[in-house]
Amino acid sequence: MYPQLSLYIDGQMLRGEGRREQDVLNPANNQVIGQLPHATQADLDMALAAAQRAFASWRSSTAMQRAQVLKAVAGLIRERAPQIGRNLTLEQGKPLAEGVGEVAVCAEHAEWHAEECRRIYGRLIPPRDASVQQTVLREPIGVCVAFSPWNFPFSQAFRKVVAAIGAGCTVILKGSSDTPASVLAIAQLFHDAGLPPGVLNVVSGDSGMISDYLIRSPIVRKISFTGSTPVGQQLAALAGANMKRSTMELGGHAPVIVCDDADIDRAADVLSGFKFRNAGQVCISPTRFYVQDGVYDRFVERFAQRAQALAVGDGLVETNRMGPLAQPRRVAAMEGFVEDARQRGAKIVTGGHRLQGDGNFFAPTVLADLPDDSRFMTEEPFGPMAGMVRFKTVEEVLSRANSLPFGLASYAFTTSLKNAHQISRGLEAGMVSINHIGLALAETPFGGIKESGYGSEGGSETFDGYLTTKFVSQLN
Ligand code: NAD
Repeated sequence: MYPQLSLYIDGQMLRGEGRREQDVLNPANNQVIGQLPHATQADLDMALAAAQRAFASWRSSTAMQRAQVLKAVAGLIRERAPQIGRNLTLEQGKPLAEGVGEVAVCAEHAEWHAEECRRIYGRLIPPRDASVQQTVLREPIGVCVAFSPWNFPFSQAFRKVVAAIGAGCTVILKGSSDTPASVLAIAQLFHDAGLPPGVLNVVSGDSGMISDYLIRSPIVRKISFTGSTPVGQQLAALAGANMKRSTMELGGHAPVIVCDDADIDRAADVLSGFKFRNAGQVCISPTRFYVQDGVYDRFVERFAQRAQALAVGDGLVETNRMGPLAQPRRVAAMEGFVEDARQRGAKIVTGGHRLQGDGNFFAPTVLADLPDDSRFMTEEPFGPMAGMVRFKTVEEVLSRANSLPFGLASYAFTTSLKNAHQISRGLEAGMVSINHIGLALAETPFGGIKESGYGSEGGSETFDGYLTTKFVSQLN
């Protein structure tokens, strides 16, 4: 059922063939499900040469040609989502409906990029002399390298690939070693949709060696990374030293502001539903809950009831609503947060412990009355944990919400227009969602500020990171 893993270089699937291999595990039971081949330096050179060769012609492809490939991919995704989603659940753990959903929604991303690439416009600038023509061209930047993570192994990689390919760039994609089948499925989709060889290449293996080698290569012009802030800082520094453009989609620690005047039961239901999606391993997961004094107890109680009622187990079992964490190290990380919270006098309202069995299961957890300087309130937990604290005024909560170096997603629930306005203007974040969860759509920009990174994926901004601006002044 789980596919044989390969590299994909210059239109060819390359199996193990003597390369070093690494076990891929199912996080629901930690059993081996596959063998991941590690790319050698010779493989990376092959991928670089293929991407460079392909760029020579792909850069002059018409927007219509690129749109055709992207639309064909959208169609194939709709056919294959059940199978690809099942493999995603096997290697990553999320419930099957979430796995299939993650894949299926990428048909929309493909279509958005197919449509939007037809609107990559230049412009004419009125000249000072009538015999001069001044033109601004937007051109594809060149060979790109994309590093994608394990939490949304299909969609995060996919969004990078469609932006690069739609802009007329070629790309070498390196996914997480924990979730390689999802990334390889992307290669197969584009291959079957008729993408020319070399436009997309997929390599796997040692992250440090691969990123170092590719970012230093003079062939590479742009880097896109989604993952933790420390790794992003390292890669951005290397990109800077080699004068490569980069897009960094890094960690978050999303604040949620729940005001006295909000519809509290609805807020608790919407937020608890979203919090435990993908076991909280989501960079935009609502995490620091600032709840106004008057509704604090009621909100915490209802939210915790919802958390407690979640069925946790193997994602392939249809009735389960939350799966395992992606790796054993994430379970240990959760225990560290709980231990610190306990020592700091916080209340463990529900959960707070690992669950029995061979998989990486951790109970949906709600912590309350945490000090603002506790580990949980200052470091990204990236797991199934919510922390609740009280606030009195909007001014006060904005300053507390903005006190961390992160600035990715943020949320607020209020029925007051004044509060909504003050909060959306006052939060230091790349995205603010008020009274619902409304982020990460194909047509809306996704990205952060501060240590959460820079650059947008999606929306009409999606190609900005993949295009250069060329000014042409011509005397006739
Ligand atoms: P980590 O810092 O070890 O790795 C994060 C990601 O970076 C992984 O996908 C990994 O494969 C990749 N990576 C690591 N070293 C790399 C290198 N030298 N070159 C290229 N890629 C490299 O953290 P982890 O334990 O895997 O994940 C936990 C943390 O990662 C969380 O705290 C969260 O902040 C972050 N994370 C964020 C996102 C996101 O969507 N922004 C996704 C996954 C993980």
